[in-house]
Amino acid sequence: MLVMKFGGTSVQDAAAIRNVANIVIRERERTPLVVVSACAGVTNALLDVAKKSADGKVEEAVADVAALHDRHAAIAEALFPKTKSRRSDEALALAKNKITQDCRELEKLAQSLAVLQELTPRTLDQFTALGEQWSSLLLSHELLQRGVAVSLIDARKVLVTGNEFTRAAPLFGLTTPRAKEIFLPLLRKGTIVVTQGFIGATENGLTTTIGRDGSDYSAAIFGAALEVEEIQIWTDVDGVLSADPSILPEARRIKLMTFNEAAELAYFGAKVLHPSTILPAIRQNIPVRVLNSKRPEGEGTLITTIAAAPAPCIVKSIAYKEHITIITLKSTRMLMAHGFLARLFEVFAKHQKSIDVIATSEVGVSLTIDNADNLGAIAAELREFAEVRVGQNRAVFCVVGENMKSTRGIASRVFVALDRAGVNVELISFGGSEINLTFVIGDAQIAAAVKCLHDEFFFNVTEWREIFE
Ligand code: ADP
Ligand code: ASP
Ligand code: MG
Repeated sequence: MLVMKFGGTSVQDAAAIRNVANIVIRERERTPLVVVSACAGVTNALLDVAKKSADGKVEEAVADVAALHDRHAAIAEALFPKTKSRRSDEALALAKNKITQDCRELEKLAQSLAVLQELTPRTLDQFTALGEQWSSLLLSHELLQRGVAVSLIDARKVLVTGNEFTRAAPLFGLTTPRAKEIFLPLLRKGTIVVTQGFIGATENGLTTTIGRDGSDYSAAIFGAALEVEEIQIWTDVDGVLSADPSILPEARRIKLMTFNEAAELAYFGAKVLHPSTILPAIRQNIPVRVLNSKRPEGEGTLITTIAAAPAPCIVKSIAYKEHITIITLKSTRMLMAHGFLARLFEVFAKHQKSIDVIATSEVGVSLTIDNADNLGAIAAELREFAEVRVGQNRAVFCVVGENMKSTRGIASRVFVALDRAGVNVELISFGGSEINLTFVIGDAQIAAAVKCLHDEFFFNVTEWREIFE
């Protein structure tokens, strides 16, 4: 058994959906559970509809709903041409009916939001959960029309979550038995199952979503529940690369990496994997493979518990998170007063803010947070016992590789390279784990930092054929 997750660009139009059907059919013998994202851009468009409605811009919202309807109806028409076959005619009628009905309800919802002028996270989830329903419907009918046994399962019957709408936490104890009960009998008789990523429901059946880009996480949750042999994440690049390819087109494919390395990279901004994806896979020790749906013959990146790489290629990849806020605090009390850090952490805990990077000295602390919500209130509370300086437009950089802490010379290579490129470093964190070296720079220096570190660590990459392409 296999989980195959396809991201938004992999199902963005009729040609892409046909291509996904080919990839899935090729793996038919391994009985795939197929998890899909919404067609590229659709979740954002649904969010816009909701926001415009709540702002009273109903006409714009209704026009956007019509555009979403037309885009999906056009995909259905391209996939299921009239009179091609009875299956094709049925698929067209079913898909168009569902899309039209959903869009009518969406319009009604938009009208009532405009009256209420209030948008709750719960209502937002009713909007955004539609994208995955449409894309999965289209893909399942495409498979059906090819004559394969396929079953479309509503993920909301399987993935049970808490009621933290828009970022709901999966309840594994309830989800795992449901996944076994609903998916397994179908897969065991050789039926391909198609379901949605990103969406779930509370125990009471209210629709939830598990956070932006969460389809990877859904795939891992289902894969772990079914103890599949592999979780495949199909996307629009050749695998996990040595840097973000949108900044550095020459970034190299990493053939093999460990769960820890992948988790660290995902957390520090490599969008190719959702940061939570790796955890369920680690728990069941299920390999994760990242693959390119535009080049399905490629090997992608295999993420497992493999042993460490040879010493010269300890560094596997670099990632960054931009638009970060840095907060620098100086204790207004005497030197060596105890309890300063405890008090400081209490403020962040109270505001449910997680701190990403931290460095301390005798008199002060610098730390970063990745969104500036509530910053005013947090700073005010901190000022009760510290001098506070806030800096914005920073980037957190993360250099990742197993055994970095115990390998001599890595830190010096990182900072000498940054110095040569004229990049100023404001905060450094190293030694917190074996596998990452993290530092903070200004947003404006991201490109220079990626380039110089890539040149430093991956220029000779051709020597390490077992790790890099
Ligand atoms: P999907 O819609 O398939 O989930 P995403 O857009 O979420 O795809 O993730 C794939 C994108 O992640 C790539 O197109 C690439 O621009 C970006 N990315 C950032 N860092 C990396 C990296 N280190 N390796 C590969 N891709 C990366
Ligand atoms: N469609 C959702 C999003 O855009 C989930 C995903 O694509 O993973 O956030
Ligand atoms: Mg993604």
